[in-house]
Amino acid sequence: MQFIDLATQKDRIRGAVMARLESIVDRVQFIMGPEVAELESKLAAYAGTKHCLSCSSGTDALLIALMAKGIGPGDAVLTTPFTFVATAEVVSLTGATPVFVDIEPESFNIDPSLLEKGVEEARRKGLEPKALIPVDLFGLPADYRRLEPEARRLGLWILEDACQGFGGSQDGRMAGAFGQVGATSFFPAKPLGCWGDGGAIFTDDDELAELMVSVRVHGGGADKYSNVRIGVNGRLDSMQAAVLLEKLEIFPEELEMRDRVAAAYSSRLEGRVRVPSVPEGSRSAWAQYSVLARDGKDREQLMGALQKEGIPSVIYYKIPLHLQEAYAGLGYRTGDFPVTEDMASRVFSLPMHPYLKEEEIERVASVILA
Ligand SMILES: *Cc1c(COP(=O)(O)O)cnc(C)c1O
Repeated sequence: MQFIDLATQKDRIRGAVMARLESIVDRVQFIMGPEVAELESKLAAYAGTKHCLSCSSGTDALLIALMAKGIGPGDAVLTTPFTFVATAEVVSLTGATPVFVDIEPESFNIDPSLLEKGVEEARRKGLEPKALIPVDLFGLPADYRRLEPEARRLGLWILEDACQGFGGSQDGRMAGAFGQVGATSFFPAKPLGCWGDGGAIFTDDDELAELMVSVRVHGGGADKYSNVRIGVNGRLDSMQAAVLLEKLEIFPEELEMRDRVAAAYSSRLEGRVRVPSVPEGSRSAWAQYSVLARDGKDREQLMGALQKEGIPSVIYYKIPLHLQEAYAGLGYRTGDFPVTEDMASRVFSLPMHPYLKEEEIERVASVILA
């Protein structure tokens, strides 16, 4: 059994994608071809935002947004310690400092009631609290209903890390469209993935969009060789855009298939492990189907039993960011974020992709329930 099966989907779209790739090869237009502009307008329509800029990865999407906003040394950016390292890494790359805020146990997402504490901590450290990066972890949008007004009250602008959440929604708004700017990733294992690296940035803000266009390609000004600010090489190539155009066609259907897989797991596993809950009005993109064991020992036993049956399972995330060696300099200690640390000790993720069969779900469940 595959943890994420990319082959079944590849077989389904192979002919259409290959035709597009051949046309790019024949035109020898590898960078910023018409596929890129077509993809950007389709993604903006899908997310419901005025602008979409494709780029080279989810990490670059986050970085370009922070750079365009002028985040730098002396600034604090609040975020969750229970995420993939890229979320905080981009803050550090700008010279700013990540300030971590604990999560809610039900959603694994940042706790809106703790933002004020984060702002106070930032000030105590002599930093200027500027921005908030909530993460739509495992595909479920963070609690924007509470985050947006609270961030506004505290004077923080929001960069949504929708790298796992793209395809999800809350109160009719699509992931990627929350906050002032949203970032997503098209890494192959994400709900909408390409055949390499890729990402996108979303915003309704005209001025910010223009700045991000500039930062994306070396801080360009009026023409290619006038550089008005420091930027990056953050383009998406035509071939990845072509793959994404075909995948976007079947994405809504695949999200429904993911919903069905999640529902089938939950109905069987409820009671034995804590299954993910999706709040009223929200939809998850199910980047991962993550459950909680009773404790670390129980997790070890369940993952061991699955492995014995040839069923892969993975821990996202075993070491919270505040305890990572790379962030030792921030001075955090064990005990600083009790909810995150508890989740990290018990969480694990089961195989999840749209093409998971009923029999496979049954097999996974029977091992866990044994
Ligand atoms: C995958 C991921 C990223 C980075 O995306 P890349 O395309 O791999 O650079 C950032 N944040 C989160 C939460 C992610 O899951």
